[in-house]
Amino acid sequence: MSTGTPSVFSKIIAREIPATVVAEDDRVIAFEDIAPKAPVHVLVVPKTEQYRNVTELAAGDPDLLSHVVATAQRIADERAGGQYRLVFNTGEAAGQTVFHVHAHVLAGELQEGTLA
Ligand code: 5GP
Repeated sequence: MSTGTPSVFSKIIAREIPATVVAEDDRVIAFEDIAPKAPVHVLVVPKTEQYRNVTELAAGDPDLLSHVVATAQRIADERAGGQYRLVFNTGEAAGQTVFHVHAHVLAGELQEGTLA
């Protein structure tokens, strides 16, 4: 369940704050992470703010989760020869800072000591 306050990602979706958008359709948006941890670091974000994390998304809308993964694959195909890491941080202790579900698409050498 969402917190009710628009997330930073909802503000990007609404074009209230800028981002470098690399893909978008009616269900998802993908944009460059503002603090990249690898040469390719794109976030794929469902437009709905209904799901805080991947567990909620998988339970509530598996088809949308599948679409997030397909979008990540397409971005990796375009930018990294199809080879990439897909990271969903889940919970504060795991490093999640934005509680609007999102996938990190990472390719190339990661910054030392980080997964995303
Ligand atoms: P989390 O830590 O929740 O898994 O990932 C949140 C990600 O969102 C972080 O990698 C962070 O750099 C990115 N991020 C936070 N605020 C913004 C923003 O305003 N614009 C963009 N493009 N990325 C952001």
